[in-house]
Amino acid sequence: MTLTVLPAVEHGAGYADKLLMPAWAEVVKIIPEAEGVTTFHLRLTDPDIQARYRFQPGQFNMLYIPGYGEAAVSMSSDLETSGGLVVHTIRHVGNVTKAAGRLRVGDAVGLRGPFGTAWPLQAVEGLDILIACGGIGLPPLRGAVYHIIREREKYGKVTLLYGARTPKDLLYPAEYEAWKAADIDLQVTVDRGDENWTGRVGVVPMWFYHFRVDPHRTAVLTCGPEVMIRFVIYEALARRIPTDHIYVSLERNMKCGQGACGHCQMGPYFVCKDGPVFPFSAIEGFFNVEEY
Ligand SMILES: Cc1cc2nc3c(=O)[nH]c(=O)nc-3n(C[C@H](O)[C@H](O)[C@H](O)COP(=O)(O)OP(=O)(O)OC[C@H]3O[C@@H](n4cnc5c(N)ncnc54)[C@H](O)[C@@H]3O)c2cc1C
Repeated sequence: MTLTVLPAVEHGAGYADKLLMPAWAEVVKIIPEAEGVTTFHLRLTDPDIQARYRFQPGQFNMLYIPGYGEAAVSMSSDLETSGGLVVHTIRHVGNVTKAAGRLRVGDAVGLRGPFGTAWPLQAVEGLDILIACGGIGLPPLRGAVYHIIREREKYGKVTLLYGARTPKDLLYPAEYEAWKAADIDLQVTVDRGDENWTGRVGVVPMWFYHFRVDPHRTAVLTCGPEVMIRFVIYEALARRIPTDHIYVSLERNMKCGQGACGHCQMGPYFVCKDGPVFPFSAIEGFFNVEEY
């Protein structure tokens, strides 16, 4: 019995035999995104590895900060948009990610990866796409947005429902106009507005009622805090979207990244290897969300 629930993605870095060994990368650009959130553009130091480095949106790297350790971070771009560079958007919450916040251009970090499954962007062609994400759940989906924009005619109606705690926490606001111009129905909501905010207020799942959904023509891609994912799934199931059209990216504590250490085990799956992107149909028994 194979447990891989989405097609395995090839390890593209060209050092698949050494996936416990980080490859060095140089920080070439740093973009402050919001309070406590930064985007890093990284170039692998070995030109041979850099030339062969491939990944797909949804996959992640183990980022190594010397002296601090490793943390899982998703690709927050795609190869075409980033010109081959590795792009990570990081919220500085703990040991490794706070150390990342002190990086400067020219510093060296280690990367192991890419690991895990990707968003099934070919499998959902022809469908309406509802992307529902919150907070640091947008970066793992940004590469998927770039892909959909490039191949826009292959998808039906595309809605991006994105929530942040406050207007100041919104990520990538400079890109929103371009996304809308590319026929992405961008709907932004915040938990708490400020004196200038005239947009939506409320958590992401609350706004589902706003959309007319053709359940058998719709795929949901969701990433964010687990409580948000649970309610997104509730809302999707309430609209009779099939469980194998709901794709979730899960966050678990990871160490090896390749299904050996068992830290991220969830039922029969290793989230690092069989995920992080799962069709809900594969994990509903372990995710504690009852069907309507
Ligand atoms: C597949 C995958 C992809 C990920 N992609 C990204 C990404 O693109 N960008 C990103 O910023 N993070 C991402 N994460 C989350 C990141 O790996 C964790 O936040 C990681 O624990 C940070 O390591 P650390 O050493 O900095 O924090 P730790 O030292 O492990 O944690 C220190 C403290 O921070 C708290 N903490 C840990 N994580 C979070 C969190 N997410 N929110 C709030 N508090 C937290 C812990 O409870 C602990 O108290 C991803 C995780 C996974 C599994």
